Amino acid sequence: MMFALVGLIVALFLAVLGPTLAQDPGTVEDKTLPPLEHPGSSTPARELFARKATPDPATARSIGFYSRGCLAGAAALPIDGATWQVMRLSRNRNWGHPKLVEFLERLADKAKKIGWNGLLVGDMSQPRGGPMLSGHASHQIGLDADIWLTPMPDRKLSREEREFMSATMAVRDDRLDVDPKVWTRAHTELIRVAAEDPAVERIFVNAAIKKALCREAGSDRGWLAKVRPWRGHDYHFHVRIYCPPDSPQCEPQPPPESGEGCGHDLDSWFTEAMLHPPPPSAEPSKKPGLTMANLPPACRQVLMAP
Ligand SMILES: [Zn+2]
Repeated sequence: MMFALVGLIVALFLAVLGPTLAQDPGTVEDKTLPPLEHPGSSTPARELFARKATPDPATARSIGFYSRGCLAGAAALPIDGATWQVMRLSRNRNWGHPKLVEFLERLADKAKKIGWNGLLVGDMSQPRGGPMLSGHASHQIGLDADIWLTPMPDRKLSREEREFMSATMAVRDDRLDVDPKVWTRAHTELIRVAAEDPAVERIFVNAAIKKALCREAGSDRGWLAKVRPWRGHDYHFHVRIYCPPDSPQCEPQPPPESGEGCGHDLDSWFTEAMLHPPPPSAEPSKKPGLTMANLPPACRQVLMAP
């Protein structure tokens, strides 16, 4: 029982580790990676997946777990829509299972109706999913997306702006609540309509944001259960959708704890150690990382497909 619990906590931790890098500026230079000199069984899978610039042409399928898997038949979210724009184009991470793309287009449309001008979309997945060289432990199977807590401006952003513009910090300097100069009713409404979408499995936000949502939810509170606190997530929120029915090898996440997770449930997030953790490293991880042997066997075909 204890092992299962520890395993679950580790899995949850890994699933959203390293979420704070939405602010990393990109580049307008060509950043094609050099070929690997001696690829072998110990080569980190992130080095292999990062070198795939196009999707596997197979039928769409999410394979494995959110933080340990890959994606066949990915679809791209177009970089410009009527109610969204994709940021950090140099990262080439606007790929997902078609259900994720549909969800984002649906949310962008609803956003406009609740007074949010449109979505700025950060990282989704790589063209074939899999582990990444920077930024996330999850986002591997095309079912996770980061959405900026900054509304889309009324104009089309330039290539440079999409690489270098910063998202707006929504949490107050003392980290105990949202910044009232930034936070609006539309922030709450946007997260509420996202959580109410039946495709959505979970949403991760900073604990100070969750606290604000609890306060502002009013009497309609069922959606709060899906919105869970996590470190970072103060410039963006992270939406995760359920395993799609066409993906039998997709491994679902255990459901969130019951209850809305407000009040004292949030206390552990506001201790000194949690409020002021050491800053996350922006350097690529030096840890060995997952190899192909750690991923579902079907990910080999996804990687090797033309
Ligand atoms: Zn994320």
